[in-house]
Amino acid sequence: MVDLRGQYLRLKEEIDAAVNDVLDSTRFIRGPFVTEFETALAKYTQVQHAIGVANGTDALQIAYMALGIGPGDEIITPSFTFISTAEAASLIGATPVFVDIDPKTFCLDPNRVESSITPRTKAIVPVHLFGHSADMDPILALGAKYNIAIIEDNAQAIGATYKGSKTGSLGTLACCSFFPSKNLGAYGDGGAILTSNTELEAQCRMITNHGGRHKYLNEVVGINSRLDALQAAILNVKLTHLDAFTESRRNAASLYNSLFEDIDEIICPYEADWGHHVYHQYVIRIQQRDELVDALSNSGIPHGIYYPVPLHQQPVFESQAHDLDLPETEKTCREVLALPMHTELTPSQQRRIADVVIAHATHLNHA
Ligand SMILES: *Cc1c(COP(=O)(O)O)cnc(C)c1O
Repeated sequence: MVDLRGQYLRLKEEIDAAVNDVLDSTRFIRGPFVTEFETALAKYTQVQHAIGVANGTDALQIAYMALGIGPGDEIITPSFTFISTAEAASLIGATPVFVDIDPKTFCLDPNRVESSITPRTKAIVPVHLFGHSADMDPILALGAKYNIAIIEDNAQAIGATYKGSKTGSLGTLACCSFFPSKNLGAYGDGGAILTSNTELEAQCRMITNHGGRHKYLNEVVGINSRLDALQAAILNVKLTHLDAFTESRRNAASLYNSLFEDIDEIICPYEADWGHHVYHQYVIRIQQRDELVDALSNSGIPHGIYYPVPLHQQPVFESQAHDLDLPETEKTCREVLALPMHTELTPSQQRRIADVVIAHATHLNHA
């Protein structure tokens, strides 16, 4: 599904030099490499502050903690997302409240959010899934109307835009992940929180540092979550290539789109006229998905299902969400199929993948 090695070999000289700089300096914890990356990331994502943390899941938890969210509070999230978005809420004693998605964008449906808001709602967390922005304006309007923070889960969408603004710059806070397969991937774990609010920046930094601003003075309960300097140096190099990476992904997506254009059985990913898609994943919809998956496995074509089980049906959330009915989310989980998407994909590889997908998809439909 991804080709981490091919990309590394292309950037090897730059990356190896950056890693060697860190080793030479022995500035492994915090220090200049992390600060340099935080500054570059903030500039790239059009925010005032970026705070490096250990991973994207920590970024979400710290963002929730910085807003003072805790037991008894509710956080609105989609059910069609990676577990972290909701898990981080549960970890601090809050309750994730799951809302259905817009089947076109795969993101939180703004029209279904308001009826889930209660006096306990402390945050709404749109997830820019697969690299496409959620429809932010109506969500931001609800945040303003009810005085609720908007936290963007930007783990899959760095570089994407909404009406010309970078995702991650729209909410009160935003969270990034640099897991190796993400669009901006480290060679290990990494994450960041984005904000243009200086008080929240200070709060996030304090929480990541055992709840203290000064050494051996702990003001609140915090955690230990740091972006490693080696990862920061690698990310610093890769950030300068991110727009070119995105261009490769977009080119690959448009080739898939044209190859599938006349195939009625396949619904290609949607790009709204207000959104610039960065194709973290290339996800099609298809009716006989499970049969197609079997056929692709037998043909040796890599593929993935994100996500097979929605969060409201996961055992961990069963007790709080068992009677929830999210029809679009449930239907989407049955129909989605991700095809290989990365920066090293060649047109001939894509043609071969598309040939096999089309042959099976049309055969299944006629069988
Ligand atoms: C990857 C991801 C995360 C978590 O990031 P980690 O760095 O793996 O902790 C959170 N939310 C979404 C939507 C993700 O895709």
